[in-house]
Amino acid sequence: MIIPYDMHAHTYYSPCGRRLTAAGEPAATPALYRDEALRLGIGAIYLTDHFVEDPTNPAAPQFYKGSGPAIIADLRRELATLGEADGLRFLVGCETETFSIEHVGVSPATAAQLDIVLVPTSHYHLTGVPQPEGDAPADVARHMLTMLASVVAKPWLDVLAHPLAEREALIGDLRAIYEAMDRRWLSDILGQAACAQMAVEINAASLNDEGIPHYREVLADLLPLAQSLGCKFTLGSDAHSVDMLAWPLQIEGWVRGLGLDESDFLTPDTLLARRHRV
Ligand SMILES: [Zn+2]
Ligand SMILES: [Zn+2]
Repeated sequence: MIIPYDMHAHTYYSPCGRRLTAAGEPAATPALYRDEALRLGIGAIYLTDHFVEDPTNPAAPQFYKGSGPAIIADLRRELATLGEADGLRFLVGCETETFSIEHVGVSPATAAQLDIVLVPTSHYHLTGVPQPEGDAPADVARHMLTMLASVVAKPWLDVLAHPLAEREALIGDLRAIYEAMDRRWLSDILGQAACAQMAVEINAASLNDEGIPHYREVLADLLPLAQSLGCKFTLGSDAHSVDMLAWPLQIEGWVRGLGLDESDFLTPDTLLARRHRV
């Protein structure tokens, strides 16, 4: 594995993590993840359930109405019950949400209580998430850059989650959107992320998503650009069920083919340092 850390995985404390195994059992439990991680040789998993600190905030999309502090507390309690496993660390963070260019779902004070905060900027399928003005590639491109620019200015966020990812049936051909992006603005944003030591995520689920058929092609340009501007990366399965924990292994060859290696990735130690915990 290019880096033995999975920095994006959902448990059944996420609304979309409630799938079942073939046997009809919950498929995204910490216990199942522990067993599979030990089998695959994954040394750390960051559990990053969908979370906003105040689900009663009118700006919080409906999807998040049940995803408040209780899910983090419950997950931590469940992990404590599970106990330590040799060779595997569970860390608890979240995937939050962008409410507007000003606001995200996690404040600096809450972020300080978590091990990682991933910020998505293109969950356009969720009602209540900021949307492009129109359907034209230029409209979507401008909106994607506007949202990315808004989050790289918030240094308490650690990772740009699955950048530019959304189903193409909803947003249109991602190649046309990427083509329509102002390159200088995109480079500025990535440069700011690098300065803030905010990582760019390589998201195995998005790269494997048949609904985003051009994601690999677009990221094959974006990732080397980000690397050239000094960005670091994280690798995440974005698992919503235990079978997906293996997906990052399947994209390793593709990642290396872009010229990225171990030194380009954030580790738990560098993340701690970024968060001023060491
Ligand atoms: Zn997401
Ligand atoms: Zn996710």
